[in-house]
Amino acid sequence: MIEMRAIEKWYAAFHALKNVNLTVAQGEKIVLCGPSGSGKSTLIRCINHLEAVQSGEIVVAGHRLSHSQEAVDAVRREVGMVFQQFNLFPHKTVLENCILAPMRVRKLRRAEAEATARKYLERVRIGDQADKYPAQLSGGQQQRVAIARALCMEPKAMLFDEPTSALDPEMVKEVLDTMVSLARDGMTMICVTHEMGFARQVADRVIFMADGMIIEENDPETFFRHPAHERTRAFLGEIL
Ligand code: ATP
Ligand code: MG
Repeated sequence: MIEMRAIEKWYAAFHALKNVNLTVAQGEKIVLCGPSGSGKSTLIRCINHLEAVQSGEIVVAGHRLSHSQEAVDAVRREVGMVFQQFNLFPHKTVLENCILAPMRVRKLRRAEAEATARKYLERVRIGDQADKYPAQLSGGQQQRVAIARALCMEPKAMLFDEPTSALDPEMVKEVLDTMVSLARDGMTMICVTHEMGFARQVADRVIFMADGMIIEENDPETFFRHPAHERTRAFLGEIL
C-alpha cells in the first residue's frame, strides 16, 4: 500500500532522512516513535508530498510520487492526514469542513458530500455537532472532526502526526478510541505517537527513528520487552 525506497531528504544542508526504507501492507498499522527532531513528521509528510524528497522512490496505492501535480493529487486522494493541531477551517462549520474536499476533489454533489460527512461524523461519535464551528468544540471533539474530515475522502490509508499531543489529558482517550476503532475496521495506518498503550493495542509494527534513520522495528511485544538497540532502550526509559 505504501512503499518508501532509499529515501534521502535534506532541509538545505541538514540531512533529515537517511536511506529510509519502509513498506506498509494493506491493513497494516504502524506506530512510529523516536526523539524530537528524529524525522518522524518529515517521514510521514513525504508520503503525501507535503515535503519533497531529494532521492528515492515513494509509491502509494500504485501511484508513484513525482513532482507532477497529477501524481501528487493522485496520492493525496488515497491518504488522509491528521495533525497535532487539528487544522480545521475556523470560519466553516463542522459539516462544511467535511464536505469541502469531497466536493472539490472527488466532485461529489453537495447532498452526496453531506450524506458522507454525516456518516463519518456519526462514526467518530460527533454527529450532533455538525452545525457548530470548531471553536465551539473541545479539543478532543475537534480532533475527531479532523479524523472524520479525512475519512470523507474515503482514503486507503491514514497518517497521524501526534494526534493527541495537543489535547488535555482527559480528551486523549476519546481520540485514541476513535483510532482504535478505525484500526479494527482494517484501515492502513501510520501513527506518529508516544502513546505506547495504543501501540501495544493496535500496532502490527513499532518503528523507532533517531537522527533521520530507522534504527529498529519490531512487533510491539518484542519491541517493548527486548529492544535491541541502546538508543531504543534509552528512549523507552524516558517515555515509559
Ligand atoms: P518532533 O517529535 O519534535 O515532532 P520529529 O521527529 O517529527 O520531531 P521532524 O519535524 O521531522 O522531527 O524534524 C526532523 C529534523 O528536521 C529536525 O532537526 C528539524 O529541525 C528539521 N526540520 C524539520 N522541518 C524543517 C524545515 N522546514 N526546514 C528546516 N529544517 C527542518
Ligand atoms: Mg513531529
